[in-house]
Amino acid sequence: MAATTPNHSLTVSGWAAHDSSGKISSYTFKRRENGVNDVTIKILYCGICHTDLHYAKDEWGITMYPVVPGHEIVGVITKTGSDVKGFKEGDRVGVGCLAASCLDCEHCKTDQENYCDKLQFVYNGIFWDGSITYGGYSQIFVADYRYVVHIPESLPMDAAAPLLCAGITVFSPLKDHDLVASPGKKIGVVGLGGLGHIAVKFGKAFGHHVTVISTSPSKEAEAKQHLGADEFILSSNPTQLQGARRSLDFILDTVSAEHALVPMLELLKVNGTLFIVGAPDKPLQLPAFPLIFGKRSVKGGIIGGIKETQEMMNVCAKYNITSDIELITPDRINEAMERLAKNDVRYRFVIDIAAATSNN
Ligand code: NAP
Ligand code: ZN
Repeated sequence: MAATTPNHSLTVSGWAAHDSSGKISSYTFKRRENGVNDVTIKILYCGICHTDLHYAKDEWGITMYPVVPGHEIVGVITKTGSDVKGFKEGDRVGVGCLAASCLDCEHCKTDQENYCDKLQFVYNGIFWDGSITYGGYSQIFVADYRYVVHIPESLPMDAAAPLLCAGITVFSPLKDHDLVASPGKKIGVVGLGGLGHIAVKFGKAFGHHVTVISTSPSKEAEAKQHLGADEFILSSNPTQLQGARRSLDFILDTVSAEHALVPMLELLKVNGTLFIVGAPDKPLQLPAFPLIFGKRSVKGGIIGGIKETQEMMNVCAKYNITSDIELITPDRINEAMERLAKNDVRYRFVIDIAAATSNN
């Protein structure tokens, strides 16, 4: 990897974590100038994904400090390169986790760039020119247009921001398992956080019976009355778990911390699938017995491809699905991160980037 960063002359104000305390402070840095395939975006809002917290605190041991987190980016295009197709100045757009991929492998050629071996993320990645990528906790973003999507006019920009990561991460496995167009299945969502609450909204919009499996008793009423979940299981309650044994076709596990998989597997019917998208820092234990006695599968996946992300955006416009958000000014990022770590958010913090002043 080259250390040189030619044409990185665009000065950008943002917010970065500088060490594993995870504390975020103002940070001015350089981005590349708009290239022929790039669009420059004035960022309006950026969601705070739990992944940002994992990186800020180096919980996965791969953080390159200073890290400017943020991969739920929405804004307006202010500049387009000469080879850009399908985007123009003034367009409302979003950027998720992807900054670059090889564009040539079997995955890139089948719209699954998210599984490209040379994939680079929008932050804590190494771009083609050798530079470290910086994310959306910043005022300006420069993106290759092939990793940008349109935000439908009917969706509010702030509440649409989390769709760029949380939304696509739960949409993609549902689509992969034929759960977008074929209603009537029994699906479970483990962890009612940023990802989980959007999964519940999708599950209901697509006509399924949705069970939330949660550690938080206080979320039961919200899950049922506000998000429309059909059932709620407290994962610490053995009676409730036993009562729902072998009842679900598909479970999406969005939990951010170490937790037991066996109770989730026991909730699956024979042939059921446990799909893991949560990314705890510690390994999860996977005993063989619940698999072999139920012919069950455990899979995982990362976000979705760009074409699929646009499809998801359009589906969200069709069903009027956005994230439940708490909008914060940039000077409150640390407070938001602390509350996110304590599971105290309903259900996604979104930073109002345009509200930044010279003091924050
Ligand atoms: P989040 O908003 O913090 O939600 C996570 C939920 O997990 C919490 O709301 C909580 O729900 C549950 N939970 C937390 N600690 C737990 C524990 N110790 N035991 C059991 N349950 C616990 O986080 P998020 O932004 O949705 O992200 C969730 C995870 O997905 C993170 O690890 C993130 O890095 C990962 N992620 C992966 C992808 C991907 O592409 N695969 C994309 C985005 C994010 P209850 O209160 O209901 O129990
Ligand atoms: Zn994310």
